[in-house]
Amino acid sequence: MKKLAGCLVVIAASCMTVPAPEHPPAKPEPPKPLTAAELGQQIDATRYASCRLGEERLGQIEAQLQALAEQAPENSPARKEAQAVTAKLKPAREALAQRKADLGSCVIRIGGRPLDPATHAIVVPDQPTLQEEHAANDLNAHIERLTGRDLPLIADSALGKQIPIVVGNCPKTLRKLSVRVDTKGLGLEGIAIRTKGPTLVLAGNQRGILYAVYTFLEDYCGCRWFTPECTAIPKTGTFDIADLNVRHIPPLEYRSTDYPCSRDADWAVRNKMNGTQTRLDERRGGKIDYGTFVHTFNSILDPAKHFAEHPEYFSEIKGKRQSGNTQLCLTNPEVLEIAKKTVRAWMKHAPKATIFSVSQNDWYNFCECAACKALDDAEGTHAATMIAFVNAIARDTARDYPDKLIDTLAYQYTRTPPRTLRVEPNVCVRLCTIECDFAHPLDQSTHPQNQKFVRDIQGWNKLCNRLYIWDYIIDYGHSVMPWPNLYALIPNIRFFIANGVKGLYEEACYFTKGSELAELRTWIIAKAMWNPNYDTDKAIDEFLAGYYGPAAKPIRAYINLMHEPVLRDPNLHIFIWTAPNAPYLNDRAIAEASSLFDEAEKAVAADPVLLHRVQVARLPVLYVQIVNSTQGFKEEGDTLVDTATKDEGELLKRFEAIARKEGLTMIREHHQHGNLDKWLASVSFAGKKLPIVRLANDSLELAILPSLGGRIWKMVHKPTGRDILKRYKDREGNELPDAGGYEEYSEGEYRSPGWNEPCRVVKREKQSVVLEAKLKSGLVLTRTITLDEKEPKVTIESALANAGKEPRQACLRAHPSFAVSDLNRAALWVPVPGGPALQRPLALPADTPEKDEWLAPTELPAGEWRIADPAANYQIVCRFDLAQVGQCLLNRSARDHRVNLELYSKPATLAPGQTLSLKHTIEAKPSVEIRLPGR
Ligand SMILES: [Zn+2]
Repeated sequence: MKKLAGCLVVIAASCMTVPAPEHPPAKPEPPKPLTAAELGQQIDATRYASCRLGEERLGQIEAQLQALAEQAPENSPARKEAQAVTAKLKPAREALAQRKADLGSCVIRIGGRPLDPATHAIVVPDQPTLQEEHAANDLNAHIERLTGRDLPLIADSALGKQIPIVVGNCPKTLRKLSVRVDTKGLGLEGIAIRTKGPTLVLAGNQRGILYAVYTFLEDYCGCRWFTPECTAIPKTGTFDIADLNVRHIPPLEYRSTDYPCSRDADWAVRNKMNGTQTRLDERRGGKIDYGTFVHTFNSILDPAKHFAEHPEYFSEIKGKRQSGNTQLCLTNPEVLEIAKKTVRAWMKHAPKATIFSVSQNDWYNFCECAACKALDDAEGTHAATMIAFVNAIARDTARDYPDKLIDTLAYQYTRTPPRTLRVEPNVCVRLCTIECDFAHPLDQSTHPQNQKFVRDIQGWNKLCNRLYIWDYIIDYGHSVMPWPNLYALIPNIRFFIANGVKGLYEEACYFTKGSELAELRTWIIAKAMWNPNYDTDKAIDEFLAGYYGPAAKPIRAYINLMHEPVLRDPNLHIFIWTAPNAPYLNDRAIAEASSLFDEAEKAVAADPVLLHRVQVARLPVLYVQIVNSTQGFKEEGDTLVDTATKDEGELLKRFEAIARKEGLTMIREHHQHGNLDKWLASVSFAGKKLPIVRLANDSLELAILPSLGGRIWKMVHKPTGRDILKRYKDREGNELPDAGGYEEYSEGEYRSPGWNEPCRVVKREKQSVVLEAKLKSGLVLTRTITLDEKEPKVTIESALANAGKEPRQACLRAHPSFAVSDLNRAALWVPVPGGPALQRPLALPADTPEKDEWLAPTELPAGEWRIADPAANYQIVCRFDLAQVGQCLLNRSARDHRVNLELYSKPATLAPGQTLSLKHTIEAKPSVEIRLPGR
């Protein structure tokens, strides 16, 4: 293989849309009698394979419209419609004229002969497939854009003396040329590109023929399709192409991501992405389609429908079957039979889909019944019951649906591979990287989760022959924040392939446009999924030049600036929840980034399209500036005063204007403040003063912030001087009062309404305060906080009243974050009725930074639970009325030195006027010695 570049490729920075031709000119059909409306739909002049064909077709359409108008009676709606559609021809002709004016003048020489309509022809099969037809037309459209001239299309049997450019399966022409291509061995996606003298052969099946055409255009003619809106086709230059003998079968059969910019059908086929989220149609080769995508246990058996009658179908946890947030009991034979039937029905009703996911719900709570536990224990992993279960389903469907796969996850509690079980050949295991550090290549990171992942992938590779990966290229908490993973992307793809991986789904920021460097990240992974030898710097540089034009250089400097700290420090990690206080986002770096973007905006100031792209790339920097400058407060008397020195109002306005123009609608996934509007409102602290209500006795001092959801921000234990509540500060030591502390919600979800709505002080007495907030949902939240006269004891009584006219769902969730000196020495102490108190250490394994644990029904405290913190020299005692409480959540973080003892009221549907209440106390008691089991 030899590639001769005759001269430098000029990538046009002007980026336009290049829609693929829709109308096959290979077999001109006799004109059908179309209606005026149907003719109108064919007018878009940019979609013809060539300008010549466009002119021809517009002429035909005009004649047909004229005939329709003449046939219709004067002033009839039909005549008026024909005339209205005729009026659209003028702008279409103008668009075509513009297209013609934009054509390039490149010379493409194959074997020394320049492509020329007088000497060459594109040869297509006598009976082309939809894909061959589309490939030939789009090839010709690009040849015209490159050279200014289109080629005639000729059927295989009709080739005369022209030099053939063969597209697809043309046996007669190939015989004449004495060229043999083994297309069988290429599968659905492999490509072959051959030259023989001045002739060119592009071969492949289904998607392969399209990929052969696009590889030819990309690798040998310099074309790039950066995004659906930005394509770069060289306009000048000479391409000398000779002695090609390319054969490539992509190592990954499934190549997928889900950024909004990756779904366009033309973009996807040209960049060889074939995932289920793309809009690929048959003409563009189709795609690998999931019938059911993920977390399907509830679709197989919904506990809401079946638990009452068959609790044994669902997870048994600590001796009790669980209905909420449950999984399936995978060793129950009836569950298996139901699952087999369900999967068969899925397959029957989605004939085009080839993968069906039978996978755990998106939480833990696996079944611990005797049979499930025995199998899992024997295999050393909870993946054992899962694999045995999906294997049985796969054996059941194998004969009737041989082309369909069963998919399951190796995710969280099922990530460790079983010791001896083998995976059926028609089962696809999707191994998930969710816990890992993404700043460094998975196999090079020092993070323990990455090191475990390397062991897991090696294990799974031995057990199954179809291993896919669900990888994460997103910060869910801050999807508009610099997240330096670009240099890990391609090494990870190589690492996956080296470990037998056949399919890759890169979960990206799918829920909004405008997330951080979405288009660039999409580009890098698309290039490398097709060809893992693609170079990261090449991908970045060509993209920046094509997409940002003259702003490429400062944006490159910005990317380097963000990546330099992680490339230098193997211990600097990023995760799916990394926050803007990450060390690589320090003030110096952000100031430098900001001035680089000033430079970038200046470079493209005259071009509104490029300027907008640059501004979208700048959003992450603005985001960090806003978030890091708006939260810091200082205590001044009975007020918390915003410490921001800059006017964030200006930054916010700027952020909002760019975000709205781009269509950015979410800041983070599924979050109360994920929505752009809510986020803008929540960070508008600029110049704010938050009044403090204080309650104090000799042993405790409380600081309450009515304007921030009535949260208790401080609870200082006077004898020790320690704050019982977890408090957060920024790097300068300013208070971050909207994190930590004691907060409450009106629904079960974290930070659902109630957490930060301003409260009115209804009543204030020496030892108590009554607060009230009217929530948008129609609920009214009332909270009475009372401090005991002497003891370090606080009573919190909350009520949610339905002030609306419709019934409303409500759940009072109390969310206290307690500060703990040392999680490794602390313990949870829970008195259990009729049994010994449950005492358990709170220490977490080194590789688990944070953990959520819902206490099992049998472990629910009978009205009391405590944290013993030996280093603090007190216990935190929380008491409540079990009759009011539905769930208790223990959440803890070693990194934050924090333990939450959260209470959920029993969820209720409140009729108008009805009230839901929760009363509990928090008390600091002298420490007692707690003996932990095994100590
Ligand atoms: Zn079970």
